[in-house]
Amino acid sequence: MKKVLSTLVLLLSLTTLAACGTEPATTVQPTATTAVMTEPTATTAAMVEATATTAVTTAGTPTTGAMSGGTLADIKARGRLIAGVKYDVRIFGYLNPETNKVEGFDVDLAKAVAERIFGDPEKVDFVEAISANRIPYLDQGKADVIFSTMTANEDRAKQIEFSDTYYVAGQSLLVPINSTIASIKDLDGKTVGTVKGSTSEKNIAAKAPTAKIELFDAYAAAVQAMDAGRVEAVTTDDIILYGFQRNSPDKFKVVGGQFTQEPYAAGIKKGNTELLAEVNGALRDLKQSGKWAEIFKKWIGSDPTAVPPQEWRDVYLQPTATP
Ligand code: GLU
Repeated sequence: MKKVLSTLVLLLSLTTLAACGTEPATTVQPTATTAVMTEPTATTAAMVEATATTAVTTAGTPTTGAMSGGTLADIKARGRLIAGVKYDVRIFGYLNPETNKVEGFDVDLAKAVAERIFGDPEKVDFVEAISANRIPYLDQGKADVIFSTMTANEDRAKQIEFSDTYYVAGQSLLVPINSTIASIKDLDGKTVGTVKGSTSEKNIAAKAPTAKIELFDAYAAAVQAMDAGRVEAVTTDDIILYGFQRNSPDKFKVVGGQFTQEPYAAGIKKGNTELLAEVNGALRDLKQSGKWAEIFKKWIGSDPTAVPPQEWRDVYLQPTATP
């Protein structure tokens, strides 16, 4: 309960910050590699397992990554929502190479927003929003809303609006199955992979200052590098790492517990409060209808190793409870 309260306090302060923040975006700039993303081509992550473009509709037809004004009126006039999600993160946002469709918890939340706006959960197009692209994509109008395993924090709340928290992860470590690394204390001199523009990058630099950090554009690329022996551990949110472990339980294990708290929220362009209200309304609708518990169980609760802290799990499995 203590964590729930502390997160509520964090959220309240974020809401306040979001309400009065006027500073321009400063921290997340597209890098040379993410600049590739300005053209809708496959990213490293997507190329690992699929040949799709960065944008696919729920019907699996690639889109051109059309520009978006992002206001509720623009979205209604366009007739479709554009949501930025991960393409390489099983459980939350994953471009399934077998279906050429994106799937996961974040994807289902984006569909719930489309359902609330249009009465049709399929009226949403997806674009791949890797960690460093999330805020730029909102600023540039490439996505109306970001559901991309994104931690709501004060720094980011100066740049964009955040919805209510919909999940709480914690940073952890993924290591090869035979590794002797058991916690962040064991990272001295070790090479650790993580992703540009993530909180994981900042946290690991602060918590394991003697580790060598190698940065990637997307998590699948970091895990691939570990598989090839180029990094000795990968660090990010546990729920992301569990997805890779689930995929290759004979190769990788999650170790070290949670050493941060990462409250996930949807990102919306600064000042776009009408859309923010719809996103929060959609999250509320999900809880009230009981669909929340359904999709939680479907993506997150189906594997006993992949659960958030018990107190959050209890909250989320009660359809009408507010986190
Ligand atoms: N939740 C963290 C973040 O928003 C790490 C996961 C990610 O990069 O998507 O930065």
